[in-house]
Amino acid sequence: MKKRPLLDTDSDLLQVLALSEDATAIYHTDEMVIAFANDAIIQIWGKDRSVIGKTIEEALPELHDQPFKQIFLDVMRTGITYQSDDMPADLVVDGKRQTFYFDFKYRAIKNEAGETYCVMNTARDVTARYLGRKAIAEAERREQDLNEELAASNEELVASNEELAASNEELTSLNEELSAINEELQEATDQVSSLNRNLKYSEDNLNFAIDAANLGTWDLDPSVMSFAGNERLRNWFGLRPYQEIPLDQATNVILEQDRERVLAAIEKAMDHQSGGLYDTKYTIMNPLTGIPRKVRAKGKALFDENGQAIRFSGTLQDITEEEQTRIELEESRKGLELAMEAARLGAYKLDLKSGKMSCSAQFKHNFGLTEQDKFDFSDMMEVVQPDFKQYVMLQVEKAIAERQIYNAEYPVIWPDGTEHWVRVSGLPTYDHSGEAVCVMGVSFDITEQRRDDLRKNDFIGMVSHELKTPLTSLKGYVQVLHGKASKVKDEFAAGMLSKVNNQVNKMNAMINGFLSISRLESGKILLVMEEFALDQLIAEVIDENEVLFPVHHIEFHRCEGLLLSADRDKIGHVVSNLISNAAKYSSSESVIEIHCSKEGNEAIVSVKDSGIGIPKEDHDRLFERYYRVESNSLISGFGIGLYLSAEIIERHKGRIWVESEVGKGSVFHFSLPLL
Ligand code: ADP
Repeated sequence: MKKRPLLDTDSDLLQVLALSEDATAIYHTDEMVIAFANDAIIQIWGKDRSVIGKTIEEALPELHDQPFKQIFLDVMRTGITYQSDDMPADLVVDGKRQTFYFDFKYRAIKNEAGETYCVMNTARDVTARYLGRKAIAEAERREQDLNEELAASNEELVASNEELAASNEELTSLNEELSAINEELQEATDQVSSLNRNLKYSEDNLNFAIDAANLGTWDLDPSVMSFAGNERLRNWFGLRPYQEIPLDQATNVILEQDRERVLAAIEKAMDHQSGGLYDTKYTIMNPLTGIPRKVRAKGKALFDENGQAIRFSGTLQDITEEEQTRIELEESRKGLELAMEAARLGAYKLDLKSGKMSCSAQFKHNFGLTEQDKFDFSDMMEVVQPDFKQYVMLQVEKAIAERQIYNAEYPVIWPDGTEHWVRVSGLPTYDHSGEAVCVMGVSFDITEQRRDDLRKNDFIGMVSHELKTPLTSLKGYVQVLHGKASKVKDEFAAGMLSKVNNQVNKMNAMINGFLSISRLESGKILLVMEEFALDQLIAEVIDENEVLFPVHHIEFHRCEGLLLSADRDKIGHVVSNLISNAAKYSSSESVIEIHCSKEGNEAIVSVKDSGIGIPKEDHDRLFERYYRVESNSLISGFGIGLYLSAEIIERHKGRIWVESEVGKGSVFHFSLPLL
């Protein structure tokens, strides 16, 4: 392309352009030399007029990496005007690189041949407008964003509101639950406080019980092996108030001979395998007072899940007195054993439920057995002489029913076939419901005594029998003499002889008594049963006795027509004995009342006097052989009348008993079963 110098006409044009307020520059050549620049553009560039004639790179080096030179070259090459609004350009103005925005144009200036020979650059600084628009757009965008955010927030708000409503509902239900929980909590709190009260009450009770039981309490902390206790225990151990001491110091108080054993027991209890229980007895010596005390320690160790002892506590009981009593008891038991052995007393305990008996060797010996032999109640009954089996059972049953000791004497047949007599006593014991559980007692071999008794009885029988013959003759002679004296009207002799007759009768009665007893003892008494009217028999006996005791007034309340089947003589003997006792133990002239009546299936006879009476403690023993009330020793007698009466009544399956008060009199009753 051919360079064409600026012409004068161009110069004029340039002057016009220089005046233009639009920023204008003209570039030419491929280096983009600034051929023209008016003040407006130079001001925009932030340069001065020296830029004219320089290439654009020299004048505005900051445009080096910007597209302007390329746009210029394109316009030069194509001749097509380039126009752009809001085109950014970085320019160094006031020494600072800044970005400005321009609406600008690169217009190709062509010659007549249509060739581009320069480019006119017009530019308007629209930085303010651009930034304004941009700010507006930015604001709009921000507003848009805000709106979107707002919408999103709104949605969120709605969702939140919904959630809030749901939460509110939940909150309400939670509140309800909470108030229900609160109520439960209140209830639980009430319960806890009631439990606390109960706990306190229990604790008070426990402390009271501990105190009442005179117990010491102790607590061992296994982690540090320190030992503490209540006041009583500290006193016993000679410790100061609130003093906690190491275990080994506490065990020093234990007597040396016990110490090792106690330590071993503690160690064992704290071993998880042992179950933690501790129960041992030992003696402690109070280091302050020097007083020894025998104690029983009981306790329990608690373990954690690893089997480690975490606590070990318990009680201490002062058993000094108990131990002393035990020793004394043991001594007296040994003494008793010795005495029993010396007296050949056998002891037994019979379990009433099982019939099992535990008995001493002597007890078995009394039944002809050795210590090794099995001996239960059934075995015992087996050896009882058959006639006495029922009697033995009856004695045991009676003792149980009447809650009293029983005494039974009976023959037993030893395994070698010999007969031996035993006396067995027993006392029933009862459980809390009043049921008899066992009978405990002793046995004694009375064979020898029994033989002596028999010999004595035989002797009494023999003597009585021998006495009876001369007495009968005596009675005969007296009666003959009495007859003669009456005939010759010798009243004195008759009177004396009738007194002799009375005395002979009394003697006869006594001898009869002895004879009866000897017969009874040797089992020679036999009942001769016959039917008779009771009141008739009593009337006959009264007649006989009125002769013997003429000064007493006998009143008889009859029971007409009451028939009995019994041994008439022996029942007559019983009535006679009761009447003669009533007369013997009451003042003359006093009244003796005799009643007979039918009560249910029994006939009851009562003999009442208003005599000296009998002390209560003698009532049960009156019917024993030879028993006499001590205070009556001045009144003669042998103590066999009531014994015989009781034996006779018992053999009739009747009962005999007494009601009496000292100084007021006595009533003897007996009953007999009716047909
Ligand atoms: P005894 O021959 O001694 O009278 P008993 O066996 O008939 O013998 O009586 C035993 C004891 O009972 C008497 O010694 C007497 O102490 C007392 N006894 C019996 N009957 C009466 C009675 N009616 N009043 C007072 N004591 C009596």
